[in-house]
Amino acid sequence: LIVLEGVNKYFGPLHVLQDVSLSVDRGEVVVVIGPSGSGKSTLCRAINRLEPISGGSITFDGQPLPAEGKALARLRSEVGMVFQSFNLFAHKTILQNVMLGPIKVRGEKSAAVRERAMSLLERVGIAAQAEKYPAQLSGGQQQRVAIARALAMQPKALLFDEPTSALDPEMVGEVLDVMTSLAREGMTMVVVTHEMGFARAAADRVVFMADGQLVEQAAPAEFFASPKSDRAKDFLSKIL
Ligand code: ATP
Ligand code: MG
Repeated sequence: LIVLEGVNKYFGPLHVLQDVSLSVDRGEVVVVIGPSGSGKSTLCRAINRLEPISGGSITFDGQPLPAEGKALARLRSEVGMVFQSFNLFAHKTILQNVMLGPIKVRGEKSAAVRERAMSLLERVGIAAQAEKYPAQLSGGQQQRVAIARALAMQPKALLFDEPTSALDPEMVGEVLDVMTSLAREGMTMVVVTHEMGFARAAADRVVFMADGQLVEQAAPAEFFASPKSDRAKDFLSKIL
């Protein structure tokens, strides 16, 4: 579904993605790990073209990523993204936050969208808070709303960039539970995270990045039991 071939990205002189090739099949869950500054966020952002690349190619569903216009808006609705900071609209209710994309971007009728939004809020356990404002919710609840908002666009894939890093520890589990159930239901997901428990439980594949390079990738059991590169061994020894 997502294919990166020889992707390079420079920020000025900084070579932040170096010949990265990666393909993600439909229904696959890929967890991306690696030290700070290794290019994980840039990789994620490149996939829905929040970050244009300097060289190489990325295709989604067989098509090169569109650079602009309606085609780009469609790509962004098909490849949802959930960030560390939930980015909800503060002056809109939870329900309005979830309904906004399908109505504004896709011109859907509000009655149908409302029904879908409510059932998504139910699914992430927030239906009772639908009429509240983001500030009235905990961080974990806000992040679950952000996931519901991404799902409201009926995406073909979801990208998560450290979705639990800004949360108090007691709220991490409730967000990972929602992500794990999405993974089990067959959603295609690319997840940048430091939550190795999630990687073990939900990932089909773990991708390890360092210094802009995709150093190794393997099934989680294999990767955690016997990382091949010294950099991966060193990284795991620090975080496990
Ligand atoms: P972290 O774990 O800290 O989130 P990361 O693996 O997500 O790190 P990136 O955010 O992708 O790393 O950054 C990769 C490199 O690119 C870093 O050296 C970073 O400073 C640099 N970088 C990222 N965004 C920009 C930008 N907009 N302009 C210039 N340099 C940038
Ligand atoms: Mg990052």
